[in-house]
Amino acid sequence: MAEQREDLIEERIIPSGELLGGKMLSSSEGRIVREVRATFCVTCHKYLKLEEIYLCGCGRKVCGTEPCMTEYEGRKLCRVCMQTELPIEKTDLMVLEAIHAGIRSKKTIAHLARITFNETGAILQRMWNEGFLSSRGVSIFSLPILTNKGLTALKVYSGIYQDADLSQFRTSLNEMSVKKSDAENRTGL
Ligand SMILES: [Zn+2]
Ligand SMILES: [Zn+2]
Repeated sequence: MAEQREDLIEERIIPSGELLGGKMLSSSEGRIVREVRATFCVTCHKYLKLEEIYLCGCGRKVCGTEPCMTEYEGRKLCRVCMQTELPIEKTDLMVLEAIHAGIRSKKTIAHLARITFNETGAILQRMWNEGFLSSRGVSIFSLPILTNKGLTALKVYSGIYQDADLSQFRTSLNEMSVKKSDAENRTGL
């Protein structure tokens, strides 16, 4: 087998967001020049190696791993397609996480998510109307719980939204849940 002469190969990265990473060989000054068309993830803008590219049905090229690509109902979707399929904003996710953690007070949710009381009410109403929330009892005043759609949104988007706001929110939520269960233990509930 011929010895690899890596020193003879010069790699030139040609930025291209649209073309699949291809290789072209040419020579300059006696050296082989390998031109690589670089692809960058449209979501996180990371340079993608050929084997890392996921080509979504919409034509966008993204990282083939979460959170840029999400598996949803047996399909793999880029962030844009995921948002079209199941539109959830970061604050919506916070509200869902709070409800899921057993927080029922609109005021507490607003405080944790750092949004206004009215915004919280509007999100809850919309989540309810769009079938992310339902009621455990027969009355609409019963405690809201997450429906299967709500649980799916929670699972999908907790992988997608990961930033300082959310870490802060989750830390406060955890502290609150711990205090809540302590209080329940003390009162024997
Ligand atoms: Zn990416
Ligand atoms: Zn897509």
